[in-house]
Amino acid sequence: MKIICIGKNYVNHAKEMGSDVPKKPLFFLKPDSAILPKKHPFFYPDFSQNIHYELELVIRIKKLGKHIEKKFAPSYYSEVGLGIDFTARDLQESCKKNGHPWEIAKAFDHSAVVSQQFFSIKELGELSFELKKNGESVQKGFAKDMVFNFDEIINHVSKYMTLKIGDLIFTGTPEGVGPIKIGDHLEGFLNDKKIINLNIK
Ligand code: MG
Repeated sequence: MKIICIGKNYVNHAKEMGSDVPKKPLFFLKPDSAILPKKHPFFYPDFSQNIHYELELVIRIKKLGKHIEKKFAPSYYSEVGLGIDFTARDLQESCKKNGHPWEIAKAFDHSAVVSQQFFSIKELGELSFELKKNGESVQKGFAKDMVFNFDEIINHVSKYMTLKIGDLIFTGTPEGVGPIKIGDHLEGFLNDKKIINLNIK
């Protein structure tokens, strides 16, 4: 399986990164080795001094497809969970500056936290999500604020890549990204259900 991550999909996050909102969905990949095994803490890697959290809605692909039209996209997913797209911001800045690929900043081991539980989107209705760091709210997002919605993302990505059953799409982070340090405790809430509970070690 692969993990597809959308960049700058919330206006206020694009702003905080000093960027314009993209005209088409921007995406990059993380390998399956990026997934943090369940119940594991996140160990701060020694190659970065500035790891940031990015809490995101994650959808799981349930049907094989490519060149998926927007109107058919809803049949390719039905459940949503949460993920944290851990980013080595210092490495990412230097990759961007030098025009280099940024896998070392985004695709490293355990850079993808995925909630164990996924929920029916129909049952949840309007989606909201929140990250707390050490008990304090640091990010709050609403699916309705996405620049490109789930269907537009699927339409765009599937022009270039076949989507396979089990693929995950991290759909972008809202504003409020920030650093973690050893000893921090992160909690992710999807419509008030706590489904991420993670210690940084
Ligand atoms: Mg992200």
